[in-house]
Amino acid sequence: MSLLRLAERGLYCEAGDFYIDPWQAVDRAVITHAHGDHARWGSASYLCSRECEPVLRTRLGPAASIRAVAYGESLDMDGVRVSLHPAGHILGSSQVRVEHRGEVWVASGDYKTDPDPTCTPFELVRCHTFITESTFGLPVYRWTPERQVFDEIRAWWAANRDAGRASVLFGYALGKAQRLLAGLADAPVGPVYTHGAVERLNRDYRAAGIRLVDTIYAGGMPRGHDFAGSLVVAPPSAAGSTWLRRFGNISTGFASGWMRIRGARRRRSLDRGFVLSDHVDWPSLLSAVEGTGAERVWVTHGTREPLVRWLTERGIDASAIASQWKGEDDADPVEVAGEEIPA
Ligand SMILES: [Zn+2]
Ligand SMILES: [Zn+2]
Repeated sequence: MSLLRLAERGLYCEAGDFYIDPWQAVDRAVITHAHGDHARWGSASYLCSRECEPVLRTRLGPAASIRAVAYGESLDMDGVRVSLHPAGHILGSSQVRVEHRGEVWVASGDYKTDPDPTCTPFELVRCHTFITESTFGLPVYRWTPERQVFDEIRAWWAANRDAGRASVLFGYALGKAQRLLAGLADAPVGPVYTHGAVERLNRDYRAAGIRLVDTIYAGGMPRGHDFAGSLVVAPPSAAGSTWLRRFGNISTGFASGWMRIRGARRRRSLDRGFVLSDHVDWPSLLSAVEGTGAERVWVTHGTREPLVRWLTERGIDASAIASQWKGEDDADPVEVAGEEIPA
């Protein structure tokens, strides 16, 4: 019997009787990170990393039973050894290492290997079977160095300010928004306003000691306030909404891995696209998967076949597995609206 398998409610470890990121309510849920498609409501108990706990609490509410462990700390779950290791995706994101009778599996959750000041760097964990995401599993996905992306954002902001416009930058409310705000911490280009969904999570990040640029909750400003020249950070669901009216003359931008693709920006009627992702790009995906030394690889999320083919050609037993996890960047702005915490 396989140590982990896909069951009706999600990825299941029968020997330890727990699920990893179940998409339905279960007794024992091990959570890789607090994004909506990985951390769902209703389970009797949750296990996550210590760094994940505050954001998971913000998502699940005060009644949820959450146990937090330090990265690398081993737990015995019915004879199965479970430990969490940094995934470098967002604050508190973990890979789940499961060991039983000498066999080691690692479920990556979402991950990236690029540096990010808002979370602990990805740790390469050796295993026999690796379950990897492949949100951006195509050779066309190669990220621009972060420093260059932030230079582009600052130049766009300065140009808008000179033209008397506000710059509205969309990024997923949990993780991407804070990465943007951390990247701008040393860039005094003017006041930074936030949408309530972003500001709520900023509190958790700041409480965790992550340095973000100073922000002002946009909803707290008096009617008729002049936002010209400022930067506004908001979730993608705010794009095209009436919430934007208060900012007057604006230029819009979106920070996402999807901005790598021609037409993605135009399709969303955005003025600018900035390629900034919290997932591995194609070269990093290949080197991470190879680095685990896994002889078997399961591929979830996004475009799975190219990676499966690439691994199979190298003698690795690879297969695509069906899942109900969707990359948070995967959805259109409208679809992720339900993920946001109301202001
Ligand atoms: Zn995620
Ligand atoms: Zn995901």
